[in-house]
Formats: sequence, structure tokens, C-alpha cells
Amino acid sequence: MKILVINAGSSSLKYQLIDMETEKALAKGGCERIGIAGGKLTHKANGQTFVIEKDLPNHTEAISLVLSQLVDKKAGVIRSMDEIDAVGHRVVASGETFTKTTLVSDEGMKALEELSELAPLHNPAAILGINACRAVMPGKKMAMVFDTSFHATMPDYAYMYAIDYDDYKKYKVRRYGFHGTSHKYVSGEAAKFLGKKPESLNIITCHLGNGSSISAVKGGKCVDTSMGFTPLAGVPMGTRSGDIDCAAAEFLCRKKGMSMEEGNAYLNKKCGMLGISGVSSDFRDLEAAREEGNDRARLALEMFAYSCKKYIGAYMAALGGADCIVFTAGVGENDAGMRAQIVAGLENFGIKLDEEKNKQKNDGSVHDVSAADSKVKILVIPTNEELVIARETAELL
Ligand code: ADP
Repeated sequence: MKILVINAGSSSLKYQLIDMETEKALAKGGCERIGIAGGKLTHKANGQTFVIEKDLPNHTEAISLVLSQLVDKKAGVIRSMDEIDAVGHRVVASGETFTKTTLVSDEGMKALEELSELAPLHNPAAILGINACRAVMPGKKMAMVFDTSFHATMPDYAYMYAIDYDDYKKYKVRRYGFHGTSHKYVSGEAAKFLGKKPESLNIITCHLGNGSSISAVKGGKCVDTSMGFTPLAGVPMGTRSGDIDCAAAEFLCRKKGMSMEEGNAYLNKKCGMLGISGVSSDFRDLEAAREEGNDRARLALEMFAYSCKKYIGAYMAALGGADCIVFTAGVGENDAGMRAQIVAGLENFGIKLDEEKNKQKNDGSVHDVSAADSKVKILVIPTNEELVIARETAELL
């Protein structure tokens, strides 16, 4: 079985064609600058990289170009589109409407459109991607795989905000969580690596990248997560503030003469690591600046590490102790110094890093970086969100 995974952004579209027998990508790539002049497709297959520079006025044109590459004599990996058994679409927010992977249908699309208000930055792009695929591949089976579904198992006391209950019911304002496919994948891989059943494990998964979230996973099910109603909440991120007192946000809006929308954009795009350091949102740049003595870069990194440490402590309590902590995504997989900074001082919780093992370079495989006498295993696991989307799509079929 071959599944095409599509992750559509407002002006970009990433894809992978995955062979479910081997669970390997036959081809992968992305379109950039859709709807803007200077469109570009980068396609990797058969050990080569193919680049096509061509204006892509909309997502339908972008998908058509991707499909033409997949069946191309040189760049292609299949003979015809019939070899694609189904398409799995990444969708960020499901609200309370969808709790699991769902087949694309007219009815489902209507419900998804109604949800756009909940995730205005992300869901409209997924809708564009799905509609484009339906136009170009009529009749092909497609699934919507939500970033939020892994978090649908959170108990009510974890996902509720303490607001007027009637407002929760009316507006569905609550914690949803994001990065669910990643938390699901790495918690499953951790259980495999440890040779244990997921049902028997308490795991804290740290997806630390440009956007970051931390989840508490009990017996294979998510019981809490750091992101909230939107991906703004939780630990400070590349450009997002993370948790902040709402009254402080309102005060800033008043002082800076920003509307609510402008305030929201400010907290999403100008804060976090970038706002604190004034240097960059990229952890490599921040670490280089810290080396050169930049104290605001030091502060940004220290705030990030401290916030992650606090979430780990909170989730140790929520889980009644953890068997394993997993680090994944750009920072979690590659930044040994940040991993060390986060778990420093947690020895009394049974969390102890092996400094030498922690220095191992990311080679795409799972690494145990915990000390021999660490009660809690510390694992570095490369995430694979596309594979989860493909697996969920295949399961649904
Ligand atoms: P996104 O949330 O956009 O998917 P990623 O998971 O790709 O982000 O993570 C991007 C972040 O990972 C960047 O801040 C980058 O600096 C960081 N990163 C990647 N490689 C390294 C590395 N070797 N050392 C430190 N940070 C790294």
C-alpha cells in the first residue's frame, strides 16, 4: 500500500509518498511560494533532488505539479496515480468536532470549514490542500489526520480552563494541545525501544523545535499537554511567548496601542526567544550569541530550559512518576547542551543524564542518553509525523 501524505500551509505544501510495507518514503518534497510570484518545487526521489521553478498560482496547480513528478520517467517513483492507495492530510485543529482520523467527505469538509475560526492560522490552509487534491484526484480515498486527536484523551480537569462553564459549552474554549502526531509517534517508539507495552509506561514527551510542546502520556494515552486553545501556550518558543498572564497581555495592548488581533500577532511572532534575546528565534544563533557573551541570549535559553524543567516536574506529579522522558524535534534531537540544561538538578527525581552518551550526534536512530543509575530513562527519538499520518490513513482504510 502507498499513501501520499500532504501537509499544506497557506503558501507552501509538503508531501511524502510512503510505502507502507517498508514504512519508508519513496519520494518527498515541497512547494514554496504558492500564490506568490517565484513558485518552486523541490522533489527528492531515486537518490536525487529535482528542482522546478515555476509560478504556482494556487494549491491545485501545486498538487498537479507534485503528481506529475511522482509519475515522471526520471523523477518518478510510480507508474500512475492508481498506485496511490489513499491520501492523508495533516490538519492542525479538530476542535471537539473530530476526536480521531476521519475520512474526507462533503459533510466532513463542511464541519472542518466551520472550525476555521478556532485555528485561523492553520486550518484554512489544510482545507485548500484537501480541496486541491479532491479536484486533481477525484474519487481517491482521503483522510484528515488531526494534530489534536492524540490529546483527545485528556481528562476534563486537565483540558478545562477555569472560566464560566457556560462559555466553555458555548464557545468550546479549552485546552486542545498540538503536535499530537509527534507525541504519539515518539511515545510509541519509546515503548518499543524499552521493550515494554505502552500500557505499562508513564512517559513525558518533549517536542522541542521552533514550536515546542510537552505532553504527559500514561499507558499510551495523553493525559496533559502544554499547548492550549492555540499553539501559543506552554513553554516559550522561537517567536511565541508561551504562557503569559492574560491581564499582562491586555495591559501591553493598551500601552502599545495594539488591537486584540495585533496583540495576538505580537505574542505569536515577536516574543519568545526572539523577543527576549533580540538576536534570533533559532537556537543555534542563540547559543553562538551566548558564547560571545550576549546576556539576553543567555537569558532566553535559560528561560526556555527552566520552563521545560517546570513542565517535566509538573507532569512527574500528574503521572505519579515517570518511566521515561523523550526529547524530539529540531532542538530536542540535536541540541545536547539544551537537553543537559533542562534535566540538570533533577537527580532527586531519579532523572540523570550520561554526559558522554548525550553528546552522540543525531543519526536518525533512537539514543538512550540516561546514566546507568538513572531511574527514569532519557531517550532521544527522531520524530516522524508523516509516518503517523500515513499509518492512521492506512488504518482507517
Ligand atoms: P519546527 O517547529 O519549525 O518544525 P524544528 O523541529 O525543525 O522546527 O526545529 C527548529 C529548531 O531546531 C531551530 O531553532 C534550530 O535552531 C534547532 N536546531 C536544529 N538543529 C540544531 C542543532 N544542531 N543544535 C541546536 N539547535 C538546533
